[in-house]
Amino acid sequence: MIKVENLVKRFGNTYALNDVSFEIGDGEIVGLLGPNGAGKSTAMNILTGYLSSTSGSVSIDDIDMVEDPIKAKKLIGFLPEQPPLYPEMTVDEFLNFVYELKGCTLEKEAHLEEIIKVTKLGEVRSRLIANLSKGNKQRVGIAQALIGDPKVLIFDEPTVGLDPKQILAVRNLMRNLAKNHTVILSTHILAEVQACCERVIIINKGKIIADERTDSIVRAIEDGYRYRIKVCGPEKEVASTLSRINGVKSVESTGERDLDSFAFVFDSAKGVDVRKPVFNACASRGWPIIGLEAVGTDLETVFIRLVDAAEGVTEGTQRRRGK
Ligand code: ADP
Repeated sequence: MIKVENLVKRFGNTYALNDVSFEIGDGEIVGLLGPNGAGKSTAMNILTGYLSSTSGSVSIDDIDMVEDPIKAKKLIGFLPEQPPLYPEMTVDEFLNFVYELKGCTLEKEAHLEEIIKVTKLGEVRSRLIANLSKGNKQRVGIAQALIGDPKVLIFDEPTVGLDPKQILAVRNLMRNLAKNHTVILSTHILAEVQACCERVIIINKGKIIADERTDSIVRAIEDGYRYRIKVCGPEKEVASTLSRINGVKSVESTGERDLDSFAFVFDSAKGVDVRKPVFNACASRGWPIIGLEAVGTDLETVFIRLVDAAEGVTEGTQRRRGK
């Protein structure tokens, strides 16, 4: 559905995008994730035809954005970070206005009703946009993107500035829309990608540094898992027992003590599930385990490691920074 090939965008001497290529299939929901300045907005603007590239190509449904921009743009609904809303219009007036502006040919009343229903704007449709909550304004932004029934939806930082309840509502709406659209969600919020996207493309300094399924990115990148365990037992003996278990590496006492329990962290070797042997070893010594959790494998940690690796930051530097 979306094909990006060797995209380069230079601003003077700065490469905002430096040889970026990816393909997104029909019906996928993909997160474009990266720190500020990574090149996300530049990529969004080129994808939606608002900015030209220095070199490389973008096609939507096999239509080249440079050769046939009008046709290609019709396939895309875009929610920019700052949706262009007219505060002095009511929701209905604004959606009618966008309908005309886009030269939409679908049956107007039915189409706009459907959009109002999907975006749950029925109750506020006669209100002035100026008087809506930020969450509802964002829904209006999404509603305008849906006019013309585009196959591809591109959302740029859609939940910035919303309260937690509004964030959940917008994420739900995006997940629902993904059932019958191809969706790209640009964000710097890792939890958003984990909540909404099947696949994540991570971009840093204009280059793609990872392109993986969201649920496998952690496993694909980490060598094994790091665990944190709390055991009621003598500190030194627990540490030495744990370190003798097959697949358990580098056991460290964290120094935390809670009554008669001590906390440790350890790594597991790649492909070995050490949780049962750890349980059995502690049980056979009569040491209750009062906590066992995988740590350091969340997307945030992976993201920092990937960015560091791409920038050549060494393990030693990470430790000194306290990572
Ligand atoms: P993001 O959206 O990930 O925060 P951007 O795409 O906005 O990143 O920016 C990528 C890089 O390109 C940054 O270094 C930014 O300063 C630079 N850049 C973006 N737009 C312009 C512009 N119009 N002129 C000069 N530099 C720009």
